[in-house]
Amino acid sequence: MNVGVIGAGISGLATTHELRERGAGVETFEATGEPGGVMQSCQVDGHLLELGPQRLRGSKLIEDWIDEFDLRRQRFEGHDDQPLYILRDGKLRVAPLSIREAITTDLISWRGKARLLAEPLTAPAQADESVESLFSRKFGEEAARTLFCPLYTGLYGANADKMLVRHSVGKALDRHGIDRSILLAIARKLIDGIDVPPIVSFEDGLQILPEAIAERYSDSIHFETPVEAVREDGDGFEIETSDGTTAVDRVVVTTPAPVTADILDPLDSRLADVIGDLTYNPLAVVHLESAYDREGHGCQILDSEGYETLGMTWNASMLDREGVFTSYLGGSRSPEIVAESDEPLGELAAREFEAITEVSAEPLHVARWDPGMPAYDRTWDALERTSFPEGVHVCATFAERAGIPGRLRDAQRTAEAVLDA
Ligand SMILES: Cc1cc2nc3c(=O)[nH]c(=O)nc-3n(C[C@H](O)[C@H](O)[C@H](O)COP(=O)(O)OP(=O)(O)OC[C@H]3O[C@@H](n4cnc5c(N)ncnc54)[C@H](O)[C@@H]3O)c2cc1C
Repeated sequence: MNVGVIGAGISGLATTHELRERGAGVETFEATGEPGGVMQSCQVDGHLLELGPQRLRGSKLIEDWIDEFDLRRQRFEGHDDQPLYILRDGKLRVAPLSIREAITTDLISWRGKARLLAEPLTAPAQADESVESLFSRKFGEEAARTLFCPLYTGLYGANADKMLVRHSVGKALDRHGIDRSILLAIARKLIDGIDVPPIVSFEDGLQILPEAIAERYSDSIHFETPVEAVREDGDGFEIETSDGTTAVDRVVVTTPAPVTADILDPLDSRLADVIGDLTYNPLAVVHLESAYDREGHGCQILDSEGYETLGMTWNASMLDREGVFTSYLGGSRSPEIVAESDEPLGELAAREFEAITEVSAEPLHVARWDPGMPAYDRTWDALERTSFPEGVHVCATFAERAGIPGRLRDAQRTAEAVLDA
């Protein structure tokens, strides 16, 4: 079996590994000159910067990959015992992620906290409601607006009004077997003692994981070889690049939706239209240097605060990366801002950082992710009603979960499905 994998981000690389482990022949095509996709790290002025994911959680799955690719010497743990903040009414307030913080936080009023406790009496999640509607109905408007919506949709730079339960949090509730009360499920976990895996990263940045996978399979991977189209070819497929065509038995697509739509158009133009219509939220990631020394993982900034900055990761505190802070701009709040050039974007992020923390900051680096993160909104309804041509598999964030552990699991499932078919 010869499989063509399109894209060498973590999804494509993990799929390459899972297929090669199972004895398949693999040809992996990557548009750029390096592995990792959005999992990208770089050095600027002596600082290690993460342009995509900032850290991992050291679950068994992640630790297994660390060992498999011999990266344990590079691994270190971040500080777990620090708060995450939410900016409300101009003040950074602790996001309550433990029972103690829930009691002491001034993020939510006592009235709001009392309403939150009524959650077990509310009706279960409805597949077709928005994330905003679900959280407001269950936890009350105040806790939804100030805590649950920003924490959940902040991961995607998305709008909770538009994100549908069916395509997002509903899947997570199903996975954890939560059919009625989210609060009781959390309380049960707290009482049983939840085992939250530690925050982990690598001294030279997270990109060393995709680099290590790419190095092992260097005989399979074609860099700087963007795929232009996939066409049927007898029982298999032809993968078309500017270097020519490659015949394969099966195809795995791991690229974001807009690219996938173009590539699959010659095979199934109706499917390509559906994929091409999926909404994404573009993101600008601005790294700042500052002497701000507050302990914390970072903060989310409520829409009502009037900032363009969606949130920040305080790498200086969480990962001991001295002076380094990551600000996120754009998303559904102001997608157009991502098109601004580096200088005004960097200055804007620094100005807003200073206004929020009262400590000065200097821009270090500006990165953009466009298309960015899937919005999981109503445009996903049409995807549910379609299927991929036989022999074409998808292992991508628009079809499954976006986080790195989700990508690694998806790659394993995809490899099994490819070889079982
Ligand atoms: C700012 C940010 C922060 C994040 N933080 C976290 C986090 O803290 N924790 C977490 O778990 N997840 C996080 N994520 C999510 C996670 O990083 C991504 O969902 C995941 O890395 C996506 O990997 P992927 O391989 O599916 O896609 P990508 O990384 O997008 O890879 C797709 C690859 O396809 C290539 N490609 C594009 N066009 C073509 C073509 N025509 N032919 C061939 N190749 C092509 C691209 O160059 C790229 O290498 C974050 C994401 C972002 C953007």
